[in-house]
Amino acid sequence: MPGPGWYWIGEEETREVLDVMKSGHLVRYGKLDDPRFQQKTRLFEQEFAAHCGAKHALATATGSAALVAAMKALQLKPGDEVIVPAYGFVATYSAAVFMGVVPVLTEIGDDLNMDPEDIERRITPRTKAIVPIHMLGNPCNMEAIGAVAEKHGLFVLEDVCQATGAAYRGRKLGTFGHLGVFSLNAFKVITTGDGGMIVTNSDDIYDRAFSAHDQGYHPFEGGKRPAEQNALGLKLCMTELTAAVGRAQLRKLDLILGTLRQKKAKLKNAIGPIPGARFRTLHAPEGECATLCTVIFDRAERAARVAEILGTRTVDNTGWHVYDKMDHFDQYLKDQGRPHGRGAFPRTDDILSRSINLSVGVVDAGLGAGFGICIDSTDDEIQQAADQFQRVCRLAASDKSQDQNHAC
Ligand SMILES: *Cc1c(COP(=O)(O)O)cnc(C)c1O
Repeated sequence: MPGPGWYWIGEEETREVLDVMKSGHLVRYGKLDDPRFQQKTRLFEQEFAAHCGAKHALATATGSAALVAAMKALQLKPGDEVIVPAYGFVATYSAAVFMGVVPVLTEIGDDLNMDPEDIERRITPRTKAIVPIHMLGNPCNMEAIGAVAEKHGLFVLEDVCQATGAAYRGRKLGTFGHLGVFSLNAFKVITTGDGGMIVTNSDDIYDRAFSAHDQGYHPFEGGKRPAEQNALGLKLCMTELTAAVGRAQLRKLDLILGTLRQKKAKLKNAIGPIPGARFRTLHAPEGECATLCTVIFDRAERAARVAEILGTRTVDNTGWHVYDKMDHFDQYLKDQGRPHGRGAFPRTDDILSRSINLSVGVVDAGLGAGFGICIDSTDDEIQQAADQFQRVCRLAASDKSQDQNHAC
């Protein structure tokens, strides 16, 4: 089961896509005065940029493609290092590795995001950028991260793939860094099946990202042109069909986020205080996406027992999100002589082994959020999920033998 935008795909998306199909013009480029050219990608970019309050937006085929184009736009070279949290998603690490750029990991904090205090310890003369990932819809501490970046003259590339529409201190994510990347895959806040976006306020970064996303071309009116200085690019573009869906989804974004925030507040309220546990830290409670509700237990044994009874998993066991749970990436870290394997990031291990994700809008067993509610859950269903969660927490707490077994 996917993200909230997926639940709300309807007539609006169909109408937008039919515009494109009736026109027969499926590629993003065209002559602005051609009546067949629906300009869906151009419009989607303009609308997305406006929603973020950014000067430019560039649509891409996927979030992974956006990450590759973004790193190219920052002119990162093989051997350069970027600082990434040890809890993220395989795509962010892979994009760096594909560029020959070395992802250097940091510990996370109890917001489940990159710990700003750990960043400085990881900086070397090769470090070029910090890549904060706003995990599970929760904005990172951008003030602290921005301060470290400024002090050391580093780029900030925000990975907003899990947090489209979220804001920190009234400003949309993606606009704090030199650029921000978004994903529109099925598990994200809004979706086009697959798709991505880059936002930036810099004309140069936009131009280089554009060039990276289409064979070194530069933007020109509704189309593209070669320039004096063409850099090698790939073909990472979005099609008109995808952009058509994206426009309809973007118009629903504020309603999706408003609904999720309301449902999450109800869920938290209905759960109430949990002895021996608390909710994760949110730096911007009113600005987060509210796609998930993370509970952090005081003890790992308790979290493991609760997860077991609920038929879900603690966050440290959520596969391709955790540094030591991606065999391919773990091997890469090992080959590079970098910290790898369980134990390499003890604070991250500790926090994630005590955490459970409850679904609110993103229902994804892969994130450990196979239990919870969805965007269409009724008040009764929310109450039921909360009651069940409380019951299981009480059961796990009374399960002394289990605790002792683990303690031995
Ligand atoms: C989903 C995701 C991506 C990649 O997005 P795709 O569109 O699937 O390529 C990158 N980073 C993070 C943190 C993600 O969650």
